[in-house]
Amino acid sequence: MVSSINDRRRAVLQTPISEHMISAEKVAHVQAGNYAGHALLVLTKSGYSAIPVLDSSFRLKGLISIGMITDAILGLERIEYERLDSIEVDSIMDGDLPEVYVHDPFEKGLDLLVNHTFLCVTEEDGTFAGILTRRVMLKEFKKYIYTTP
Ligand code: AMP
Repeated sequence: MVSSINDRRRAVLQTPISEHMISAEKVAHVQAGNYAGHALLVLTKSGYSAIPVLDSSFRLKGLISIGMITDAILGLERIEYERLDSIEVDSIMDGDLPEVYVHDPFEKGLDLLVNHTFLCVTEEDGTFAGILTRRVMLKEFKKYIYTTP
């Protein structure tokens, strides 16, 4: 019994991240050359606090969040909203993301999700493929906990 539970756990941990991710076409994103004002609009309308930034070839460039935008337009005495349409996303985004590929094992995602609310997943050549979120990971755990005898 114990060994069959361990076998199932090992099997889930070894499945490729591509089997667990939200695919690119369902992920809200902005382009690196978009202005911060556009990114703020997409973030506000989608309800997400951070979304991926892609280039015109759909390659992953970074992440942009509402906090990064607010920080970029923070003046000494007020928030300078008029700057929203002169700052480009790639000058304020976080471009230092962990490298996560579609073929990486779910276990790698699990380790990284301790410190990230979601991970951007790419093909080998950097083309954006989707995201792996904490919600998906927790659902996987719930399924495992409740269905394992
Ligand atoms: P969740 O674990 O579902 O709460 O998602 C964590 C984070 O992943 C969200 O706060 C968003 O920043 C990002 N996220 C989740 N789903 C999407 C999506 N469809 N498009 C863009 N970003 C998303």
